[in-house]
Amino acid sequence: MSHHVKGRSRSQATFFPEVLDDFVSTENPVRVIDVFVDELDLIELGFKGVVPKETGRPNYHPAMLLKLYLYGYLNRIQSSRRLEREANRNIELMWLTERLAPDFKTIADFRKNNSEGIKQSCRTFIGLCRQLNMFSDAVVAIDGSKFNASNNKAKNYTPRKLETEMARVEKHIDRYLNQLDKVDMNEQDTDAAPIEEKIAWLKTRLTELRELKEKVEAHPDKQISTTDPDSRLMKAGMGVKVCYNIQSAVDCKYHLIVAHDVINTTDRNQLCRMGKQAQVALKNKDITVLADKGYFSGQDIVDAQDAGMTPLVSISDTSGNDKKGLLSKSLFQYDSEKDRYICPANQELTPRGTVTDKGLLYRNYCCSVKICRMCSLKPKCNKSPVPRKIKRWERADRIDMMTELLDSKPDSMITRKQTVEHPFGTIKLWMGATHLLTRGFKGVRIEMDLHILAYNMRRMISIFGVSRLIKALMAKSF
Ligand code: SF4
Repeated sequence: MSHHVKGRSRSQATFFPEVLDDFVSTENPVRVIDVFVDELDLIELGFKGVVPKETGRPNYHPAMLLKLYLYGYLNRIQSSRRLEREANRNIELMWLTERLAPDFKTIADFRKNNSEGIKQSCRTFIGLCRQLNMFSDAVVAIDGSKFNASNNKAKNYTPRKLETEMARVEKHIDRYLNQLDKVDMNEQDTDAAPIEEKIAWLKTRLTELRELKEKVEAHPDKQISTTDPDSRLMKAGMGVKVCYNIQSAVDCKYHLIVAHDVINTTDRNQLCRMGKQAQVALKNKDITVLADKGYFSGQDIVDAQDAGMTPLVSISDTSGNDKKGLLSKSLFQYDSEKDRYICPANQELTPRGTVTDKGLLYRNYCCSVKICRMCSLKPKCNKSPVPRKIKRWERADRIDMMTELLDSKPDSMITRKQTVEHPFGTIKLWMGATHLLTRGFKGVRIEMDLHILAYNMRRMISIFGVSRLIKALMAKSF
């Protein structure tokens, strides 16, 4: 006889009363959160409210609130309102918080007021991973990813956008003024008052837009986001979005995020800065740093080398010669012994004076006018009647050194891609389509600290398993 699996009756009593701990298995990730937070020195990390006040209502212990948030970020429950709800019905959370269920305001205030403590907790976890020899290869990949800000695209203004909007408003004013003329000349049997109201509203809007345009033009970035003023309209994939650029340095062996930061500019000039953060996290100056061509900046690469790193960055040709159908600079081979370039027509380009561009000193190299004039490749070399000039930066030997090393390690850029895409993809999936919930650098930084701590914790649980990780964590010094 066929039958279904039967559950236990809701009203059935048990001989020995069940305790909450029975519902949380030894391999439940929630146990890692509990051990990690209990081992933290919350006062030293900068958490507020660890020592209760002498007077007034007793407050919640920051350890409990940190556990609550960590659970939320590990389980895609980032909002304080949802955490409040879950704390009242989720058995894992009841176990973790010992059945405390603070209201959403208390939960949100904890995140808002403990930026330093949360940042230091994230760093402490990376320190523990280091003590567990997770970063022994000392190779990190640096990359940035655009995370949607809590600012609608319509609430971001650039001079072009404002001009279009102002033209649209002016057109509407003209249309209503024409209607008003017709009413005045008794051609149209309509009441003038609603039209006048619309015109007045549009004129106010026009004044607002003019004022906003002045502010936008005075802004160093020539754009303003009105909901989250720190977010920026940036290129992201094939389009543009109002976002933050989250920088991360990811360890290539276990894909743990060793350093991160929140910026609102491009990846350029971030290589050395992020590399230094990775050096501190790894407690190792001798690290290899992989980055894509967005990070290519001669000075930044030299700075990274001077700081003890081995940067490997894809070279970018920003001249646009390829697109114009002209010979690219990479086809001109530099001969360091004779300090000259050999062009694709096998002719010598010798040094001809220096030039300074954006504070950097370059030496110009070119062929004689006579040789170039007779060259069959001239139309593809440059459009100007004078010979093609090749600019060489005074520290270009360092870049050549890096290129040679990069050529000897052809897999580096594949490793880079495989390393950095994993954490960003995972975190964005956990965040959902809206990405960031908080506004401003301060809020977004706290949010990212929590996401990255949760991501690293999840990775470590996958690598070690819960009980092994707990044992390993307890054996280390926090
Ligand atoms: S035009 Fe001059 S620089 Fe260009 S390929 Fe010919 S010889 Fe070389």
